[in-house]
Amino acid sequence: MITLLGISLALLLPGFVAAECQEQYRFDGKKLVLSEAEWKARLTPEEYAILREKHTECAFDNEYDTNKEPGIYFCRGCNLALFSSDSKFSSGTGWPSFFQPICPDNVSYETDTSFGIKRVEVLCSRCGGHLGHIFDDGPPPTGKRYCMNSKAMRFVPKTHQPSE
Ligand SMILES: [Zn+2]
Repeated sequence: MITLLGISLALLLPGFVAAECQEQYRFDGKKLVLSEAEWKARLTPEEYAILREKHTECAFDNEYDTNKEPGIYFCRGCNLALFSSDSKFSSGTGWPSFFQPICPDNVSYETDTSFGIKRVEVLCSRCGGHLGHIFDDGPPPTGKRYCMNSKAMRFVPKTHQPSE
């Protein structure tokens, strides 16, 4: 099953590598649905504004833009693994940027036409939280740039993760 999925994705996306998509990080398909009141209790006002109201944090003045430590970025709404430091790159945009998610199914996409600009929004697959946008000017191997909000994610350094 996993092998089949890997092959089909490899055919769809030449050069696609998902080395970090380990079973422990893979989205199991069970969505997290909370009421607005529950989200407000769980998140800080800034996190709520980004994840639930699709705000964008300030460029350069955010937590993970320049973070180069090895580790995993998890969703601040539901703790689903989203990105590995292995796919992070310095985009110069002022926001943490990645060329691929940790597992293909952990993020979802929606067309966003706010501000009169057509963009593709990136959402957490489990809680539907707004993470950022995806653009086609990223580096190899995918050519994609996942432009993320630091406050939508929580970084866990590799050294702090329980060993398998
Ligand atoms: Zn989430």
